[in-house]
This record gives sequence, C-alpha cells and structure tokens, in this order.
Amino acid sequence: MLLSSVSDMMEWGLRGAPAAPRAALSWRLLSLAVFLALWSLAGGLVELTRPFNPLFLPAPWVVIGSLVELARKGQLWIHVAATLERVAVGFTAGAVLALALGLLAGQVRAVRNVVEPVVELLRPIPPLAMLPLFIVWIGIGEGSKVGFITYATFFPMFLTTVHGVAQIDGRLLRAAQSLGARPRDLFLSDQRRSQLLPGATDARRRPAARPTRLWRQRARARAGASRAALAASAMKIHVRGLSRTFVAAGRETPALLDVDVDIAEHEFVCLLGPSGCGKSTLLNIVAGFLRPSAGEVLVDGRAVTGPGADRGVVFQEYVLFPWLTVTGNVEFGLRLKGAGGAERRAIVARYLELVGLAAHAEKYPVQLSGGMKQRVAIARALANSPEIILMDEPFGALDAQTREVLQDELSRIQRVEHKTVLFVTHSIREAVYLADRVVVMTSAPGRIKQVFTLKLPELRDRFAPEFTQYESEITRVVKEEVAKVHE
Ligand code: ADP
Ligand code: MG
Repeated sequence: MLLSSVSDMMEWGLRGAPAAPRAALSWRLLSLAVFLALWSLAGGLVELTRPFNPLFLPAPWVVIGSLVELARKGQLWIHVAATLERVAVGFTAGAVLALALGLLAGQVRAVRNVVEPVVELLRPIPPLAMLPLFIVWIGIGEGSKVGFITYATFFPMFLTTVHGVAQIDGRLLRAAQSLGARPRDLFLSDQRRSQLLPGATDARRRPAARPTRLWRQRARARAGASRAALAASAMKIHVRGLSRTFVAAGRETPALLDVDVDIAEHEFVCLLGPSGCGKSTLLNIVAGFLRPSAGEVLVDGRAVTGPGADRGVVFQEYVLFPWLTVTGNVEFGLRLKGAGGAERRAIVARYLELVGLAAHAEKYPVQLSGGMKQRVAIARALANSPEIILMDEPFGALDAQTREVLQDELSRIQRVEHKTVLFVTHSIREAVYLADRVVVMTSAPGRIKQVFTLKLPELRDRFAPEFTQYESEITRVVKEEVAKVHE
C-alpha cells in the first residue's frame, strides 16, 4: 500500500496537487514532439553540410527506415527479445540485491557501516569502464552483458533506497503502526497482501465467521491476565511506576519519574502540565512508540510492547497520509484488516458524517484547512474501532475559534462512541471542558501532582459557575509548577 504509490506520494509531498491527467499527457506528448523536431533538424543539417559522416547522427526517418527493414527481414523481434531478456534478468538481479541491501542498510546502522565504504569506493567508477573487465572475467557472451547491467543497476538503486528509507517521516510510520500496520504491510500492496497472506483473504470472504484480531486479542488478554489483576478494578489502562530517562549528548535527562495512573473504561482523562514535563513521553509510552526505563503500562491487564490498532493515536501535526484522499486516509486501517469494499464504504461514510466531512471525501490533505485535517485524523482513528484513543495536543495548532468548534465536536463524538481517552493538552479550559478527570503533572521530571475528578454534567457550559470554579482551582495548581520551570 505504501510502496505501490511512491510516485503519487512524491507528487503530493513535493509539489502539491498534480495537473489533471489529460493536461499532463498533452505536455508529455508535446515534449516528445519538440525532441523529434530538433532531432530531424540536426539530422537534416548533418545530411546537407556533412561536417562528419551522417552515419553518426542519422535523422529519425533513417532510423525508422532501418527499423522497418529489420522488421521485414524478421530480425527485429529477435534483437528486441534478446535485449529485453538481458535487461530483465540483469535489472532484476541488480534491483533485488540493491533493494535488499538498501532496505537493510537504511534501517540498521551496523549494516550501513559495513556496506557503505565499499559502495563509496566503487561508485565513482563509471559502469561502462567496468565493461571490458566483465568481458575478461565472464567472456564476451550474454553473461558479461547481463553482469554489466546488474552492476550498473545496483549502485543508483542502492543509494536511492538507503536515502529513501532514511527520508521516511517517522510520524507517518507511527501513524500507520497505530492503525495496525506491521512492518511487512509496509512493503506489500493490498492485492499482493491478499494473495500472499491467506489470513487477509479469509477475513475478507468470511467476515462473520472469523473473530476479529481485536476480539482475539481481548480473549487472550482475559485468559492471560491474572484473575486478581482483573478483579481488582475495571480499569482499562494501568500505568505503574513509570519512569523514563533520555540520554542526549552523554547527559541523562529524567523526563518521567515514578508515574502511577489508572484510566477506567470509557473514561476521558486529560493530562495537564508545564511544557517539557513529560506529557508526550507518557502518551508515547502508552501508544507503544517509546519504551519505559522503569515500570510498565498495562492495557486490559497485558503489558504494552509496541504500537497496535487497539490504541488509536491523533497527533498534534495531523500526520495524514498526503498521497491518499480523505476516504483513503479514513479507510487505511480497515484495508489493513482486510475489510471488504461495502463494509469500508459504510464505515467511512459513518465517520465522515460524524466529523462533518461527508462533502470532502475525495479531497487530498493539502486541500484541507487545519481544522478539517484534524477532523480527518479523528475519523481515521475512530473508523479503526480502537477501544482507546490517545491524543497529544490535537487542537494545539488550531486557531481559537476552530479549537472550540472541535472541542464541541469531540465532546459530542465521545457521547456517542464512549472511548477510553487519554488527551494531552496545555489548555486548562480545554481540559475542564472535555475531561472526566484531569491529571496535573509536576514540572520536569514529570510526576503526578494532583488529580481532579470533575463533577460536571456531560454536556458542559463554559460559562457555568462550577466550570469556572474548576478552571481557577486547576489553574492555581498548574501555575505552581509552571513557576518552578522559570525559577
Ligand atoms: P511535554 O510533552 O510535556 O511538553 P515531552 O514529553 O515532550 O514534554 O518531553 C519531556 C522531556 O523529555 C523534555 O525535557 C524533553 O526535552 C525530553 N525529551 C523528549 N523526547 C526526547 C528525546 N527523544 N530525546 C531526548 N530528550 C527527549
Ligand atoms: Mg508534548
């Protein structure tokens, strides 16, 4: 799914909306026509003035004449077939080698350290200069030609692969992983995946007969988790003794220190605290993007070991897949699960309706405003039916008005969807508007300072006296911590 549309991805990533296909085609044909005209002109001039033997710059009609002649004698197809075979074999061998080594070197530094010096040593030698050597080594037959093509294919492809892997936006990978993508999904198109992985095809054919992955996970969680742990509470998320230290430039910075929080099923918890106190770190550990230095996070009694489709993530910077339409983004996780076309359409329609974007289904992310992008990100997370939604300052980049509109929408959506939500924000007002409980963290290293359980109606009034009461109470507590940052 990702690699099959690399050229679309480049188009969107680099230049925004491509021209309409028909207009693009006309430009491409025009370019060829101009080239042919210039070639004819040059060929004609050489024919007339003969500065050198016209054999070295034959005009297009001379080339076409020879082609027709060869075709009539029946030799053309033999030559074409031989060349194609040579190129196909040589290119495939070079490409397989370069992709395999490039993907590995792009991800594993140790491999890069071993492979790169040799590549850098050989790369500046023009492949053509190696041709005589290939002939000496392998002989003048097909072997040396194929070997030469393999050699010439390898270097540019290896370098672009390493470069490409290094250029992949880590946030897009995180977004894909939190929608259920595993590493192998990143390299297979939908079609290939359903051909190669029988599980996906089965799920598509018999959606009802097969328990979903999530259901199986939950069943396993119930079987695997100790009875005592489950009986102890109906908590969905347990954060226990969580600490995280970052090492940067040889210095250790503790970001989180011994954090304990429990979040109940269907509960909306807001995490507040001064900038840099470890809110994102905590959320990223729950999402499975980061490992804790100590302690653990349990979801349904099972330790989190990595990202998964059971925990949908909404990032501050939207992180939509730029090469997919709104619909393509929203159905991303459903496609990975192998949901059928009709099912996907129904779910996408439902969630686009819920976030008020039904009229924009075929637009691309570059064509949307910030508020619309974040609505797509929310719809994408919800459409994948995770039980938990993790949001890291999702409205932080929006203007004040849009922000309030989206808060209203999220509050309405939560009244319908009843997800377990962990929501990071630095806006106290936003927290009091949305949360069932507000967890205030201390300045770095982040610990839990105080937890507020909001006794407010589900549908909140930002101007009600109880609302402002909570707002000022929480503000006082947060301010103590913000002051410490500036001391
Ligand atoms: P918040 O989201 O509350 O603003 P963060 O969780 O992003 O804070 O960061 C907490 C602390 O950890 C900060 O001091 C930050 O500099 C540090 N930190 C976060 N991520 C990294 C990282 N990848 N490497 C080194 N330090 C980091
Ligand atoms: Mg943050």
